[in-house]
Amino acid sequence: MSNPEPSTERLLETFLALLRVDSYFGDEDRVVAVLTELLEPAEVDFKRDAIGNLIGMWPDRESDAAPIMLNAHMDTVQSTAGLKLVVDEEGVGTDGSTILGADNKAGVAAIVEAVLAVEGSGAAHGPVDLVFTIGEDVGHVGSKAFAPESIAATVGFVLDAGSPVGDVVTEAPGTRRLQADFHGRAAHAGIEPEAGVSAISIMSRAIANMPLGRIDAGTVANIGTITGGQALNIVAPYARLEAQARSLSEERLDAQMAVMCAAMNEAAEHYAGSVDYAVEPFVRAYQLGDDDPALVRAEAAIRAAGLTPNRISTGGGSDAHEFNAKGMNTVCMGAGYRDAHAVTEFMPHDELRRLTEVTIQLVLGA
Ligand SMILES: [Zn+2]
Repeated sequence: MSNPEPSTERLLETFLALLRVDSYFGDEDRVVAVLTELLEPAEVDFKRDAIGNLIGMWPDRESDAAPIMLNAHMDTVQSTAGLKLVVDEEGVGTDGSTILGADNKAGVAAIVEAVLAVEGSGAAHGPVDLVFTIGEDVGHVGSKAFAPESIAATVGFVLDAGSPVGDVVTEAPGTRRLQADFHGRAAHAGIEPEAGVSAISIMSRAIANMPLGRIDAGTVANIGTITGGQALNIVAPYARLEAQARSLSEERLDAQMAVMCAAMNEAAEHYAGSVDYAVEPFVRAYQLGDDDPALVRAEAAIRAAGLTPNRISTGGGSDAHEFNAKGMNTVCMGAGYRDAHAVTEFMPHDELRRLTEVTIQLVLGA
């Protein structure tokens, strides 16, 4: 049997229809309406989970293959209200007044076209769980709340890396966020500074004793913001910092946070002030080994689509972080869009087609 072929015309129509929907976090229902209608011919069984993710069960055809999950997120990093599409021979962009939203609607469109092309071809395929998440770009809201028990698949593919089609993310960093409040004691800075304790001095000493920037090849740390103080003539009673660290190793990440917390405790003690802080784990690091089932299948699908797999390490987060943290075996794959999160965002036609061809091969279980 010949392989199912994507319809170039229908693929572009689907992509443009999705782009025209303004779907910042909170407005994903608009995408749900378009998606469920587009996929009607495939008899996908749709439901919404408690947080609002759209989950579609697409039954197998003459196959006893294990189920897989295909994922893309329905939200965009900003609103695209007033979107003016510019479609030329090379691809799709905007007039420069808004982002495009190919992150991640290129992934959504590729999944839709892959399902329609395979369904229309009559080719045998295993069951596919389609998971369209909400709120990825505001902090993985949908995937963090996702219950893996709600689907059958334990192996998944996230079509959301902002790099060429054929790339597979084999390692991604964990992230910790730190917020610290330093407390000193206010006093008149001109009359009796001896009576005060400067929270700014405590914070400064703590920061000076923290290793920051690039810690090692896979670990970085950054103080992102500082605020504090009340007036020029008041010894500052209060200061706050917000920091972030990332590492490909959870152990090194924990060690880095411990050093930062120790520096804050030491500084508070040194000046006889105090510090309250909270360390929030944002995402967990993951690495996929050579024999990882999702990686093996992703690379086979890329080859079957006529491309060469390219393994990459990323500094960014995606829903794959959350699926992996929940025990699903998930790989994030290059989706081909360029300049994501910028008004110059662009999706080349040939990348959209390649992404769809790779997705078809994922479905066929190449
Ligand atoms: Zn994205």
